[in-house]
Amino acid sequence: ATPDTSPPATAPRGAALAEAARRVIPGGVNSATRDVGEPFAFTSAEGAYVVDADGRRYLDYHAAFGAILLGHNSPVVNDAVRAALRGHDLVGLGVSELEVRLAERVVELIPSAESMIATMSGSEAVAQAVRLSRAATGRAKIVKFQGGFHGWSDAVARNVISPAERAYGSDPLSHGILPAALDETLIAEFNDLDSVRALFDAHPGDVAAVILEPIPHNVGALVPTREFVEGLRALTLERGAVLIFDEVITGFRHSLGGYQQVVGVTPDLTTFGKGMANGYPVGGLAGRRDLMDHFDGRGGDVLLAGTFNGHPVGCAAAIATIDHLRANPDFYSRTFAHGDRIRAGLTEITAELGIVTQVTGFGGVFSMYFCAGPIHGYRDLLRNDNAAYVAFHRGMTERGVLMLPMSLKRNHVSGAHTDDDIDRTLETADVVLRELVA
Ligand code: PLP
Repeated sequence: ATPDTSPPATAPRGAALAEAARRVIPGGVNSATRDVGEPFAFTSAEGAYVVDADGRRYLDYHAAFGAILLGHNSPVVNDAVRAALRGHDLVGLGVSELEVRLAERVVELIPSAESMIATMSGSEAVAQAVRLSRAATGRAKIVKFQGGFHGWSDAVARNVISPAERAYGSDPLSHGILPAALDETLIAEFNDLDSVRALFDAHPGDVAAVILEPIPHNVGALVPTREFVEGLRALTLERGAVLIFDEVITGFRHSLGGYQQVVGVTPDLTTFGKGMANGYPVGGLAGRRDLMDHFDGRGGDVLLAGTFNGHPVGCAAAIATIDHLRANPDFYSRTFAHGDRIRAGLTEITAELGIVTQVTGFGGVFSMYFCAGPIHGYRDLLRNDNAAYVAFHRGMTERGVLMLPMSLKRNHVSGAHTDDDIDRTLETADVVLRELVA
């Protein structure tokens, strides 16, 4: 059928595009959380800014859910992609130089990485990590944490945002998942080692892996205690389970060696995606050689397949992003300083206005919970005033500072944000927060 994409004569372009999208794309978006009620449609992006179909310019902290690290349309990354395509597109036999060079960098930089596979997304990397852990241990169960999000694959698709009374219940993110797939997934509390130990005790010899976002940025930013992360390492070693750090958001963003380098705890497996290639599609799974060798087609027992795995566009973009970060370590000092300024500014503004908030985050990632502290784990977040959180993000977005208007969404400073951008962000926040209490 030929879709009718003609916009109503008087409608703004964005609204017309959104309407056309709803006719040919279910719900009008290609990923559920891209729909926040407003008809967003963007036509250009550069540095710290994105421009919508009606010419509105936004200072961007959404950063494509964290896939933008250096800034939009980074010339170094785009040039590397163009150069790669002058060589070849996808051939799909043997290996390309770009795949080797990317894996070499990851092995060199990431403490847990002795070898690496390249996927097309973070979800695929996680699905492979789960399957690999089960194959390597001969066990079925996976422990994940309440509030952690690890993509769309079956085993991890539960207990991201649950109402309090169902915090330990099954709340699959999707229908169509076999109950048996979720029954093998056990839920623990972040920053609560006893809750993990209790699951190991209740299921002796059955837990294949513990998977966590070392900072659960999918509920804003819960910062782990050192004892918790070290305790997880000791416990998984003691019980013979695989420890998986999902560094799809934290990897490369918080340090060249990932958050594992910051916290000084080395997992068995690490997943990557998002910012690693500054907006181009690539994911990765890296880890201990004896585990990763299960993927070795000559004698290994875990299937590694994917037509687009190791695609030259994603690999070239990832190499360029990593090399840029290596050559410009001030990326970290700048984004961290900007993150600190925003956190300090928001704390000051809300304190002055008498709004009870917990401003949190790490490095260039920041989040502001609307509740009293302290915030250690997911249960504390159930006190968050979701309506105020959304109203703040919506108010910022309406004034040209793009923050996803959904509760518990984090914000990302990129390498392209300037001091002036941070000033503008805090000035805008002052106006929005004043309106919130008015
Ligand atoms: N892991 C984490 C921590 C994520 O935040 C996400 C996506 O939001 C994923 C995995 C899934 O990655 P992708 O969306 O590339 O499949």
